[in-house]
Amino acid sequence: MFRFLKRNTKTTLHFLGAARNVTGSRHMLEVDGTRVLVDCGLYQERQFRDRNWDPFPVPPSSINAVLLTHAHLDHCGFIPKLAKEGFHGKIFCTDATAEIAKIILLDSAHIQEEDAAYKAKRHKKEGRTGPFPEQPLYTIADVEACFPLFSTLRYKSCVSVADNIEACFFDAGHVLGSSIIKVTVSEDSQQRIILFTGDIGRPDRPIVQDPESFERADYVVVESTYGDRVHEPTEDIKDAIARAINATVEKGGKIIIPSFALERSQEVLYYLNNLILDKKIPQIKVFLDSPMAARITTVFKHHPEMFDKKMNELLKNHESPFEFAQLDIVQSTEESKSLNALPGPFIIIAGSGMCTGGRVKHHLANNISNPKNTIMFVGYQAVGTLGRNITDGREKVRILGADYQVKADIVKINGFSSHADRDELLGWLKKLKACPRHIFVVHGEEKSAQAFGQYISEQIGCKTTVPEYGQTVTLD
Ligand SMILES: [Zn+2]
Repeated sequence: MFRFLKRNTKTTLHFLGAARNVTGSRHMLEVDGTRVLVDCGLYQERQFRDRNWDPFPVPPSSINAVLLTHAHLDHCGFIPKLAKEGFHGKIFCTDATAEIAKIILLDSAHIQEEDAAYKAKRHKKEGRTGPFPEQPLYTIADVEACFPLFSTLRYKSCVSVADNIEACFFDAGHVLGSSIIKVTVSEDSQQRIILFTGDIGRPDRPIVQDPESFERADYVVVESTYGDRVHEPTEDIKDAIARAINATVEKGGKIIIPSFALERSQEVLYYLNNLILDKKIPQIKVFLDSPMAARITTVFKHHPEMFDKKMNELLKNHESPFEFAQLDIVQSTEESKSLNALPGPFIIIAGSGMCTGGRVKHHLANNISNPKNTIMFVGYQAVGTLGRNITDGREKVRILGADYQVKADIVKINGFSSHADRDELLGWLKKLKACPRHIFVVHGEEKSAQAFGQYISEQIGCKTTVPEYGQTVTLD
């Protein structure tokens, strides 16, 4: 039988998601009965999606505040459901995270509404019911209803969440606005510092700054997406992109880049602008054909204070990667379709990143069977997605209900990861002057999280735990 977790008088941490899996980040800190939820993510792995429909482990109305590390769906995508079910506290995050989260949540609601309507129709036709309700998890109206809950702050600033709980936000270098949250709990003249990493970026990435490091913590909740791997040393990303573009330009073809709306699209624009400025590629048109990526790019333009030094130099020289002469932001669907008739060479950046939806599908349908063209992949392609089928080298793929021969050049550009790898994560932990009392390893597939936990113990001798889903630990 389902039972809510009991209120705790001690300081405890409840692992309610991203525990031995990657998505659904939800960690609840409880201090004398005050409940603070760090991240409120959606489960996206197929085998865990039913948890999105389960009752929340505590009544949402009993949660005092949400601290949000960043705007990816697996960290913020459950907020509208939590609010719909009674949460009415504040959601603290950086201003950029709030602006991007609103765009991403509206898109998520839109997709869910469409999916639910489509499934209801299909199930009715087939005379059966599916595993989940034929309703959206939340609607656009539910998303809009939680906008007033957002309360924003800047990097290196703090907020008092309750009398004895303070939260401070620092740059995590993962995506624009992403934060490592330092929570200080004061009790009986004793202070305890708990660091929640959210997702940590890699050093020296374009646009955003490097992740902030810390000298002291009593407890650390650390991500482990790449906890069992080291990113391969990659050839220069710019050279690889230039080579593929120049080869396609010579043939008079088109370059289609499937891309994620947040961070990856802006990084691609950054490299393309750079290559044009350095005269490494000709001045061909670049179409950003993703309404969501365009909206998020506008948020980037609002937050130059979050950019790194190189990016600020570009802005100073009026060489912004978001406003260069060859860049054309495609708005309407008609405009998007009109690109089919336009002769190459030119570049189209379109969503979605794994080709599972969005405008990239019609561009692929129109261009993948022409050997003059190039499809350039700049991100991870999950098993079972159209993107993965193409990068796996299939000769024929199914797009929008029809089969297409793959004749275009397929190019994979490696090195775009926005997650620190095993050694970079360890490097970040090593900046702490002493071992924390405990390190909790979360946000990684079980194999990866376990391997990273063990690696930390072997390399720096700190105590680690890979918490299980639903586990509660007392922070003494
Ligand atoms: Zn993330």
